[in-house]
Amino acid sequence: MNKYDHVFVIRLLAGDAVSLSINGETQMQIVVFDLDGTVIDSSHRHLSKPDGSIDLAHWRENCTREKIMQDGLLPLARSMRAIKAAGHHVVVCTARVMSEHDYAFLAHHGLHYDGILSREGETDNRPDGPMKVTLLTEYVQSLGFTSIKQSGLIMFDDNLKVIAAISAAGGLCLNAEKENRRLVA
Ligand SMILES: [Mg+2]
Repeated sequence: MNKYDHVFVIRLLAGDAVSLSINGETQMQIVVFDLDGTVIDSSHRHLSKPDGSIDLAHWRENCTREKIMQDGLLPLARSMRAIKAAGHHVVVCTARVMSEHDYAFLAHHGLHYDGILSREGETDNRPDGPMKVTLLTEYVQSLGFTSIKQSGLIMFDDNLKVIAAISAAGGLCLNAEKENRRLVA
């Protein structure tokens, strides 16, 4: 089975990961999830500026514990739990600056992970795409791989620029918006 064929991805999302095998060997897969718009619906806190970019001042004002706890889950959240429970290596890769409230939200909803990669601080204003490529490259190298491509990771992200950047780095990055729609249907 080619791990990049769509049947593999559908079975992975369905949590049918224990039985996934290539040449008779069970494969441990690195699966990377973005948060906002991928596993978490935080749209009630998100305001877009006229050019379509995020209004960061508004976002930061609304990063209170109360508001964060009102966030919802998207269908891929269930897949993330199933994939982790099946023993795969789950990584969160988010453009958020993670606060204790964000970690509390993940724990409260049983969203567990092996690694979490995020923006370094409010002064870290790198664009999401190159930032995630850098974070993931360093991460997979810490696991002993040479590159994103060689790690064979599968990623879910709703940001088209991130999808393009990860794809250019040789990773398989699927459109989370499409996968969420498919999972609901
Ligand atoms: Mg996102």
